Amino acid sequence: MPVVLFHAKIYLNLRSVKSKIMKIAILSRNSKLYSTTRLVEAAQARGHQVRVLDVLRCYMNITSHNPSIHYRGEDLTGFDAVIPRIGASVTFYGTAVLRQFEMMNVFPLNESVAISRSRDKLRSTQLLARKGIGLPVTGFAHNPDDITDLIDQVGGAPLVIKLLQGTQGIGVVLAETHNAAESVIQAFMGLNANIMVQEFIKEADGSDIRCFVVGDKVVAAMKRQGAKGEFRSNLHRGGTASLIRLTPEERSTAVRAARIMGLNVCGVDMLRSNHGPVIMEVNSSPGLKGIEAASEKNIADMIIQFIEKRFETMETKDKLPTWTRTRGKG
Ligand code: ADP
Ligand code: MG
Repeated sequence: MPVVLFHAKIYLNLRSVKSKIMKIAILSRNSKLYSTTRLVEAAQARGHQVRVLDVLRCYMNITSHNPSIHYRGEDLTGFDAVIPRIGASVTFYGTAVLRQFEMMNVFPLNESVAISRSRDKLRSTQLLARKGIGLPVTGFAHNPDDITDLIDQVGGAPLVIKLLQGTQGIGVVLAETHNAAESVIQAFMGLNANIMVQEFIKEADGSDIRCFVVGDKVVAAMKRQGAKGEFRSNLHRGGTASLIRLTPEERSTAVRAARIMGLNVCGVDMLRSNHGPVIMEVNSSPGLKGIEAASEKNIADMIIQFIEKRFETMETKDKLPTWTRTRGKG
């Protein structure tokens, strides 16, 4: 047999070797949620064992020799991979449970550190800015005496005021005048809420773009348009989704943002501004419903295939020392 053909045959044989059957845990508060159900289906369709665990019912024994996780009286063992679907309201406890899985050498789809950093809007904005990613001009202050200066810095009213830990559009306010901006900022500061102040990207016209990233690729994208008269495009606020074609710049910005945050799977939200794409936020538990419907793609399956691939190379983004060192030894 000619050498080339021989090599081609080996290559094809290697490609057709079926991936290992994995035992996958999905951390989710509700097994009936669309995204959770789809991930369960996709994992089972590829022959894996999968179990949905309510993250708030996981409890832990934190010892260096034999870290363990318990669930309703049962000792959880033998998981190969874990898919965190941790809601914003349970970030603190949820990332602690995920960290425990990491200590037990279970491959995390997204790592706990990456989820924590993405949940803080200010921290993520600073990280993205440091790497030159396009962002709306953003300011942050503590003292009410600095409000006027802060408003001037972002270009004056109209401007957007955001709670650092808000989600689904709640906690995002458009202040149309200087006076409105000043009183809303004062009110938030009076309540000791952490906020940031942002240039209003008017030209986005109530729409944003959700890029769904898996690994180093944008696998689907959709445009979300806010309800009439609403500047927030969140589907939870009545926005509607449609398919969109990304520019090469938007595509590469999304991939870079995901990489900077250290997230394998995420939803990168951006606005089309006069000065190119500007990032809104990077979501570490992006919903599958809107994007699967808009793109008609099986994103859940892509996520499971990604886990299969990464599980084989055992590669993590933040290079968890315990995870990489002890993997495979027990
Ligand atoms: P949340 O985490 O609550 O979704 P976002 O920061 O993503 O908060 O803001 C919600 C929505 O509000 C965005 O998707 C976008 O449509 C709109 N929005 C937020 N910031 C701006 C801005 N600076 N300029 C224009 N629109 C904005
Ligand atoms: Mg958002």
